[in-house]
Amino acid sequence: MSISQNSVVTFHYTLTDDAGQVIDSSVSAEPIAYLHGHGNLVPGLERELEGRNVGDKLNVTLSPAEGYGEYDQELVQRVPLRALRGIANVAPGMRLQAHTPEGPRAVTVTDVAADMVTLDANHPLAGKVLNFEVEVTGVRDATEEELAHGHVHGAGDHGH
Ligand code: ZN
Repeated sequence: MSISQNSVVTFHYTLTDDAGQVIDSSVSAEPIAYLHGHGNLVPGLERELEGRNVGDKLNVTLSPAEGYGEYDQELVQRVPLRALRGIANVAPGMRLQAHTPEGPRAVTVTDVAADMVTLDANHPLAGKVLNFEVEVTGVRDATEEELAHGHVHGAGDHGH
């Protein structure tokens, strides 16, 4: 069967940036499983997987807009280090949960200078061209329960 709305798809992928550096890969681990057509993947990748079959290999290059979005300078802010009291050893690269008027938001510490900390709420892959090398390893119909939840159950299930 080929991939269509409500297929459960498993695939292996290797993600590289434009310099050819591997950002992430499933190849030495379990393949990724997702429910097709529910926005569980970046939009450009989901679109390219539509209609594919088990064994298909594809290379997909996504612009930032088709991936994790453009980099937004307005999502970068500097806060006093004392605003992060209770967090030990604040250092660049650290991922934190910030409390904002819109709810909790993941931020990355990008700089610590004297008593000021720079926090970046962009997705770590925002603004990047993404090169996915994908191999489809499984396609099946979703169960009723998976459709009701909008995500895949099975290996690595979260238990509800
Ligand atoms: Zn569930």
